[in-house]
Amino acid sequence: MTTSRYLADYAITCDANFSLLTNAVLDVTDGRISWIGEESEAPVHDGPINRLGGLVMPGLVNSHAHTPMTLLRGAGDGLPLMDWLTDVMWPREGQMTPEDALWGMRLGAAEMLLSGVTSSCEMYLFEEALVEASKEVGIRLVMTPGIISALHGESFGATDSRIAAIADFHAEHHDPESLVTVGFGPHSAYDLPLELCAEVASAARDVDALLHIHVCETQHEGAEREAQHGGKSTVELLADYEILDGRVLAAHSVWVNEVDIATYAKKHVGVAHCPVSNMKLASGTAPVMSMRSQGIQVGLATDGPASNDDLDLWQEIKFAPLLARVTALDAAAMTPRDALTMATVEGSRAIGNDDTGILEIGAKADFIRLDLDNPTFVPVTNDDELIAHVAWAGSGRHVTDVWVQGRQLVANRRLTNFDLERAIGEIQSRGTRLAKESGT
Ligand SMILES: [Zn+2]
Repeated sequence: MTTSRYLADYAITCDANFSLLTNAVLDVTDGRISWIGEESEAPVHDGPINRLGGLVMPGLVNSHAHTPMTLLRGAGDGLPLMDWLTDVMWPREGQMTPEDALWGMRLGAAEMLLSGVTSSCEMYLFEEALVEASKEVGIRLVMTPGIISALHGESFGATDSRIAAIADFHAEHHDPESLVTVGFGPHSAYDLPLELCAEVASAARDVDALLHIHVCETQHEGAEREAQHGGKSTVELLADYEILDGRVLAAHSVWVNEVDIATYAKKHVGVAHCPVSNMKLASGTAPVMSMRSQGIQVGLATDGPASNDDLDLWQEIKFAPLLARVTALDAAAMTPRDALTMATVEGSRAIGNDDTGILEIGAKADFIRLDLDNPTFVPVTNDDELIAHVAWAGSGRHVTDVWVQGRQLVANRRLTNFDLERAIGEIQSRGTRLAKESGT
């Protein structure tokens, strides 16, 4: 088995100590990291050597996305969440074909890779198309096929067969050794009855799969259901219905209280924090500091590209601490290390991947290179400043090279195996058609 060696000026490992290595060596064997450390301590090596310079770090992990919404990017700007969904998003999505979703995912996966995102946790319909597109482009995918009453309309009565279909899809595609793992994606407790969410949760537990659900994104979305249940909070209701009992990823969780957070902690629920989407749709500020202080794994996420409007997770790395600090009126509230940890290893754990998002021996070799020869990365007079530059000033345009499972997918800012121009053209014509057909 050949080992490839990569040399970089610096490496941010995102391990438990948040080690910053200088003159770093990263060895990759069969898609996994076989050694990481400083050059002076590196083992003897006689395979290929790649002198990267710059800084290497784990690929970013987008813990909650609906990436084929690249086809709907920019639509309905200025509407509050419910109107935005029902008046614009769902009508256009109702016209979408599997071929549209395939192109939407291809373009979005390419966009993510170019900005250094190497994993994405997706809730969407057209799961076969998303798997096909992700494998083609090479990004790591956690596919949680969506269950949405608003979109299934008349066929909603057929939900049992949808659950069975997702279980079959899991059996066919879930493979932690490859690029694809599979969970279940019931949209939310405001879109679906609690009994149904419970049924999906039970099906997910049967195969130890991730349950990925929107929770308390906007202030009043649960009001009606909560009133019907004697004022119990949505999270309490989810817990009562045993929906939080397996491996659960709760997207957003903006309007949760301290009791809800304690419930998350007790049940080991992970959270996908979407600060840019939450600000764009005026949803609110998720109490992330409190969640993390109780040991909850919180990842960062773009949400769908229609509510962001891009898939560059570097914006979340910047906005999560900005939002935490301005809310707490505390300049120390969330550190650059915190933000980078959430964007990598913590997000990876929240979406059920324990061996990505970190540079350590045995982890999958999903890593990126940043070019440090850039105005925003000087001066560096100590380690903290370099880490601060990366978190506060880093962006997709600094990412020059990207590897997933040891395979190089971006080289010198260009995709190695994907025709980006063609995908842009396809999205332009398909997105226009969806707008026209839906009359929105
Ligand atoms: Zn979402």
